[in-house]
Amino acid sequence: MDAALSDRLAEVQARIVAAAARSGRPAEAVTLVAVSKQMPAGLIAAAYALGLRDFGENRSAELETKSAHLSHLPDLRWHMIGTLQARQSLPVAQRAACFHAVDRVRIADRLARQLEEVNRRLPVFIEVNISGEAGKSGLEASRWETDPDQQANLAAVCATIAALPRIEVQGLMTMAPWDAPTAEIRAVFRRTRALAEWLAARIPNGRWDRLSMGMTDDFETAIEEGATHVRIGRAIFGARA
Ligand SMILES: *Cc1c(COP(=O)(O)O)cnc(C)c1O
Repeated sequence: MDAALSDRLAEVQARIVAAAARSGRPAEAVTLVAVSKQMPAGLIAAAYALGLRDFGENRSAELETKSAHLSHLPDLRWHMIGTLQARQSLPVAQRAACFHAVDRVRIADRLARQLEEVNRRLPVFIEVNISGEAGKSGLEASRWETDPDQQANLAAVCATIAALPRIEVQGLMTMAPWDAPTAEIRAVFRRTRALAEWLAARIPNGRWDRLSMGMTDDFETAIEEGATHVRIGRAIFGARA
């Protein structure tokens, strides 16, 4: 057994428990998605042996290969956490337990048709760009509280996605700015949660009470602001090459 892995995992889990308590929630309210991108299947199997069941990959081909290698672990759930190119969508429709980065109607529509063919349903998060950083993926939402055009666009796009067959909207996903002051990061998470509540009041389909936010450097802040899914790589598996 990988001692470093079990030590790091225990520390992350303890920090999740403490942060959840600060947000007035039990630790079970927070799903730990262990981001295993670039990590070998053997290390994922070791993490599985330590009790982890949810693993995140950001490339569809890698998710496909690893899920084939580890298909003997039937209750292992694969989360696609990265932007999805149209031509790479089929493995996600076939194998993913959840897709965290829906950023346009077209990809959701394509997945809905493929899910019909493979007779599956797919829980998804809609990714929003709250910080407004250029080059960041997600629906543009940097001025959602005050800009009527942005509000109209967000409401229309999210309603269209939530109405698709076989696509089960869970809520919103966001990425905080990298290396920003904690107050700024916290504001991004808080505004994401407020947007999810705003959408919930306007869109009949889907549930909007789940939030995928928080990574190695900011997951405690995210949990304090209501994250239900944290996507943590380096703090569990160590630095990537
Ligand atoms: C890599 C990645 C993570 C995990 O990042 P760490 O800093 O290793 O915790 C989370 N979310 C997404 C979308 C990622 O690509």
